[in-house]
Parts: sequence; structure tokens; C-alpha cells
Amino acid sequence: MSHRFLDSVARFTDHRDLDALDQSLTLSLAELTAARAVTLYKRADDAGAQGESMVRCFALEGGYGVEAAQPGGDQPWLQSMRRCAEQRQGWIERIEAGHCHVLVPIQRDGQALGALLLENARFADALRVLVEGFARIYANYTVLLHESERDKLTGLYNRRTFERQLQRLLAGGGPVWLAILDIDHFKRINDSYGHLYGDEVILLVARHMRSGLGAGDVLFRFGGEEFVALLGAPAAEDARALLDRLRARVAQHDFPQIGQVTVSIGFARIGMHDYPASVLDRADKALYYAKNQGRNRVEQYEALLAAGAFATGAPTGSVDLF
Ligand code: GH3
Ligand code: MG
Ligand code: MG
Repeated sequence: MSHRFLDSVARFTDHRDLDALDQSLTLSLAELTAARAVTLYKRADDAGAQGESMVRCFALEGGYGVEAAQPGGDQPWLQSMRRCAEQRQGWIERIEAGHCHVLVPIQRDGQALGALLLENARFADALRVLVEGFARIYANYTVLLHESERDKLTGLYNRRTFERQLQRLLAGGGPVWLAILDIDHFKRINDSYGHLYGDEVILLVARHMRSGLGAGDVLFRFGGEEFVALLGAPAAEDARALLDRLRARVAQHDFPQIGQVTVSIGFARIGMHDYPASVLDRADKALYYAKNQGRNRVEQYEALLAAGAFATGAPTGSVDLF
């Protein structure tokens, strides 16, 4: 068992991104223990950058299938897993003769990260120790990966993960839109109130945007006061409506001391064969146009192009930005 265990751990930690790691963890555990199913449940993170999620590996004819599942009301094991994570306490449920469910919390530094559920384990007591070992290795490793993928201030994804996430979402048939969101006159906020206040504004704006986006949308902090969102909205009007709600949400918030803060947003359609740099460039042109037109607004590249806004002699670039 011990070399199989090491081999299994080596295999599941051979990943540099969390989604692949999650899938590999459940598969490795299922194969190693010949379980009927292994489920990984992850709690929503504190920064609000990601909601709760689940990955389930289940026995099929002659192998295993792995799928990401949305936590919902129809999964009988979900309540147990939530409780296991919440209480940071594992247990064994005897289901029928010789068959058990093993529940183990995943935790790190006293923080509950989630839980693991092994179904249909025959040697539950021995397996519990094994699953606890996997849970500890997984917790340590995810914290490292998490830190390398996230922006420290906001907890959002950082720029380094952008291309990988874009490819992952494109492979799944979406997203269709890329938006760049930039805080208006941010330099003034920094200059008038100081850098610490500036950081606080970035953090609050990031939270507003994250909670205004859907679960399938991905938000990055790209640099200073600039964010990028990948949206799965079906049509341009849907993307615009969503982005305009984000814009309004920030504009309506009363920021402590500062009062009103606004954002300008430019977005563009992502084609299946686009280079990331060229989509970013199109969204940036729309953003630049929004800034020129008075800020606190949303502009779409394709619509501007169709309207001839980028034709020579149009106002783009002729207005002083500062
Ligand atoms: P515009 O409406 O045209 O976007 O004007 P702006 O002032 O927001 O644009 P500009 O790009 O000139 O200003 C961005 C400023 O953001 C410059 C920089 O000092 C500041 N900045 C960049 N990163 C950070 C950060 O992490 N924290 C804080 N507090 N400020 C930052
Ligand atoms: Mg700005
Ligand atoms: Mg900027």
C-alpha cells in the first residue's frame, strides 16, 4: 500500500492549477481505495472571490468519471459535508453491512476549507487515517497554489492565471465576453486621501464587482486599479446589462470619507481563435473611449466599431484624459 500511496500523492500534486488538482485528488483517492465515489466539497472563500464548489468522482463501468458539480438541494451528502467542514470534525457513517461513508474535514491554520467524503469504503477505520493524510497534503498544497494564483489585497485571481483561465473557459464553450474595468480618477483618491485609502477603495470596488457577477464569471485584478472580467453572457445586450449593473452598483455606494467612486468599463467579444492580447486590446480601446466620453459608463468595442467611433477624426484620443 505504501508505494501506491506515495505514487498516488505524487500524481495528484503534479498540478499547477487548483481545478486540475481537485479532480486529481478525488480520482487518486477513489482509485487507491476502490471507493464507489469520492466527493470534494470546498467552502466559499472569505474574500468572496469564489463561492462554494464540489468535485465528485464516481465509479463507472470499468473506471471512474470525474465532474465538477454545483452544490444544490438535491445532493443528500451535501448537508453532511457542509457540517463536517463547518465543525472541522470527521466521522464514519455505517450505511449497510460492511459499507461506510467516511467524512473528513479539510482545514488549515484552524480555518475550515472544506471536506472529503469517501463512499462505500469497506475498511473504514483504516481508510479514515488515509483520507485524513490526503486532506492534510491537499490543504497545504492548495494554500500554496492559492497564494500563487491570487492577488494579495483583493483575493481575486491575478494576471498570471489569465491565459489559463481563458483557455479553460473557451474549451467549455464560453465565455464570450471580456471586460476591462478601471476606477475613474483614482490618482485623485490616492493624492487626496493617501495610498491606504486608495487600497481600501480597490478592495471595496473588487467586492462589489465580485458579488455582482455570476458564479461562472471570472474576475481578475490586473494591476493597480484595473480589473478584467470574463463573462459567459449569451448576447452583447446581456453582457452590457450585467456590466452596467456593476457600474451603477459602484457609483451608488457611499465610500467612507470619499463619497462617490465610479468605474469605466470597456468590453469586447472573444472569438474562439483570438489571441488574449488582441481581445484585451479591443476591450481597452472601448475603455479608452468610455473615459473620453466622460467616464462612469460602459462601452462595447464592436458597437463602437459599427458606429464608426474609431474612424479618423472621431473624438478618441483628442480629449485630455487628466
Ligand atoms: P482615469 O479615470 O483616466 O483612469 O484616471 P486615473 O487617475 O484612475 O488613472 P491613472 O492610471 O493615471 O492612475 C492610476 C493610479 O493608481 C496611479 C497609481 O499611483 C495608482 N495605483 C496603482 N496601483 C495601486 C495600488 O495598488 N494601490 C494604490 N493605492 N494605488 C495604486
Ligand atoms: Mg483609472
Ligand atoms: Mg488605470
